[in-house]
Amino acid sequence: MPGVQALCSCDGAKESYEERQCRLMNELPGHLTDYDCPLCRNKGYIYVLNETGELVCRKCRCLGVRESYRRLRQSGLAPMEQAYALEKFRPVDELARRMLAHAHAYVKAPRGWFFAGGQSGSGKSHLCAGIALKLLQQGKALRAVLWRDEAARLKELQCSPGYTSELDRLRHAPVLYLDDFLKTQGTDRGARRAPTAGDVNLAYEILEYRYMHPELPTLISSEWHSGEILSLDEALGGRILERARDHLLNIPSKAEYNRRVCPLPEEGGREEKKTHKALFFIA
Ligand SMILES: [Zn+2]
Repeated sequence: MPGVQALCSCDGAKESYEERQCRLMNELPGHLTDYDCPLCRNKGYIYVLNETGELVCRKCRCLGVRESYRRLRQSGLAPMEQAYALEKFRPVDELARRMLAHAHAYVKAPRGWFFAGGQSGSGKSHLCAGIALKLLQQGKALRAVLWRDEAARLKELQCSPGYTSELDRLRHAPVLYLDDFLKTQGTDRGARRAPTAGDVNLAYEILEYRYMHPELPTLISSEWHSGEILSLDEALGGRILERARDHLLNIPSKAEYNRRVCPLPEEGGREEKKTHKALFFIA
């Protein structure tokens, strides 16, 4: 009732009328979907008492997560949530088991960067997408981009006034996933072409900010090994080596690790091949 000083939370402290109003309004459930937010109970906003004791309404931080889900749907990548779940990554050999163990460890404590480089078709993108989705489910807003498309888009914008704010969307993303990092158009014979100085500069502009903010999880999948990136550009490669040192997967360039070409054994079928040794290294 208005004017009545309400008693009190379970710890015995007195609760003011305004505090009680605030608590009761925050307890009301909302109807937003995609993510179950314990803060706003899916309303998208929360009530707080400001410095003068007035009840004010603020946006809840889950709106960023909901925006990530919206982008995921808009980009047509929503089916990825099922197909690329970590649970769908099959640990068929020692290499895949170690890749998966790193992914689970990173999801548990997403500090620094996660880098998976090397053999095409070895499951690097699946692994990084699976991690990104887990972090999204934990309530961390995500920006996932295909490097080649995003780099082309940003380079076109470079002289326009909106360039910095577009760059900031990647730099400041609570979780950033760069897929096929530094991928370029191959030669006619299918060989890889080194990224241009423009690509490397752009990568540096984005990653330098995140290097200075290691609390922002950054996931990178690339057909380049970390050592190759180091040879391309020492500053860029050095930052990757340093920040991803706990989760740096370099998968040897071997056709047998291309799961698209060498099909995996049937699930529940014959015994898995155990010939694949852990040839990849974790620096
Ligand atoms: Zn919320």
